[in-house]
Amino acid sequence: MKNWIKWTLTVLALAFIVSGCAVFQTSKTEPHTTEGAQTEVTTEPTTEVAETEQEIPVDPYPTYRLPVPSDRERGNIISKVSYDPQKRYAIHYPAFGKEKVDGIIVQQIEDWIKEYTGESHPDSQSEMRIDYASYDIDNDRVTVLFYVEKNGSDMAHPDEMWQTRYFDIKKDEEIPQGQLIGEKGIKQIASLATSKFERDAKFADLPKDEMFEEGMAPTEANYRNTVITDDGVRIIFEKYQIFAGFVGTQIIEIPKSEIEELPVFAPPATEPATEAATEPETEAATEPVSEEATEAETEEAEETEPETSGDEKLIALTFDDGPTPGTTQRILDALDQVDGHATFFMLGNRINSYPDVVQAVSKQGSEIGNHSYSHPDLTKLYKADLDSQIQSTDEIIADQIGSAPKVMRPPYGAHDSDVAAAAGKPIILWSIDTLDWKTRDADSTVDTVLSQAEDGDIVLMHDLYEATADAAVRLIPELAQRGFKLVTVSQLIESRGVSFDAGKVITSVTK
Ligand code: ZN
Repeated sequence: MKNWIKWTLTVLALAFIVSGCAVFQTSKTEPHTTEGAQTEVTTEPTTEVAETEQEIPVDPYPTYRLPVPSDRERGNIISKVSYDPQKRYAIHYPAFGKEKVDGIIVQQIEDWIKEYTGESHPDSQSEMRIDYASYDIDNDRVTVLFYVEKNGSDMAHPDEMWQTRYFDIKKDEEIPQGQLIGEKGIKQIASLATSKFERDAKFADLPKDEMFEEGMAPTEANYRNTVITDDGVRIIFEKYQIFAGFVGTQIIEIPKSEIEELPVFAPPATEPATEAATEPETEAATEPVSEEATEAETEEAEETEPETSGDEKLIALTFDDGPTPGTTQRILDALDQVDGHATFFMLGNRINSYPDVVQAVSKQGSEIGNHSYSHPDLTKLYKADLDSQIQSTDEIIADQIGSAPKVMRPPYGAHDSDVAAAAGKPIILWSIDTLDWKTRDADSTVDTVLSQAEDGDIVLMHDLYEATADAAVRLIPELAQRGFKLVTVSQLIESRGVSFDAGKVITSVTK
């Protein structure tokens, strides 16, 4: 993380990736269980996003919407997803492998979930999205920047919020902002930020009125979102803090050279030398990521195998929202036992944290599909955000395995004609919904699949959960025993001679 542009990219990416349309459209019908159905080619009636007097945010960096995954500089990504249509959420937060720091973060996330699920949104769909970036301040200390957005069909505007936290990973503790910036420091960055707003041509047309003065005043509250990195600070001024809401979130960057006397950048000589020296060196830099990732190396040639042979029973197991260390590998091992394959619809933001797991999936001969970058309801996004969610994930997958995915599955199965147009590949839904996310019960998942499985089915599961891996380990040999060949979605499509038309919606592919 050495350059300013990249940083700006990320914060805006977080904002725009997470932020969606202010207006919820009428609820989409979820895909139904359509066992035995022929391939569906959908020319769906689109429920267009309502054209209302909704404010259009001014975006000073319209092209800077791509996520910059390397801006998760420290920690592993942990994701929580709720598929409950009334209370959807997709949450991503970091884990550093440190008890206290991780506990503080988990507590914060739980508080946000509790608050959200406790809010009443009568006859409404709602969605909460939480995403983050993490920055090294130095070897021991990090800034974690959270973005929280809530949206509901009964809300005029999405409710958005930033939160900035600082942690000493080595000492396993949170650092109060006062220790890093201090009162004097706030005055200094406030004055630098104010003069940047006044001198920069980009902000020339914006009114520097009372609201501006109040929002820029050197108080802790105004500067609560000061992101500290190893090369300076970036101050986030939330929507409505200094300018009218339509102007949107603003960011001011101050390079380290201008603020070297802030306590956080002060030379270490000011700290008692012994403290650092006696600190136990127990820190594990990152959690181990899929130890078994390299084991499957001998199977690379497998992918080109022809999968067709007339009257075989085929079934495509699919696993969404991963990759997940451990869980994904257990499923791969079970597939190996029966020479089977599956499709893993992965999130772009998790692939970067767990590249070894992605490699293992690819080497096993299973398929990697696009499940968006951060799991928003794609039907609620502006076009640029929608494109970014899909394209960035295609690129991240191509970087990992050398080719872009051939299939995609939109989060929550939510799709419309805009999503179809942006997808660039078939949209894969499912014919058997295991509800594994809800039951978290292996028996129930196994029963659901075995009682319904027929030729051509596409089965929905999630490799976020251990219970799903438990179910897969039992299901996979049993399906093989019953004469099913376990194939990827693409193999199923190819075997049945169906075309890969962009935007085509597929729920199952029977003979
Ligand atoms: Zn999902």
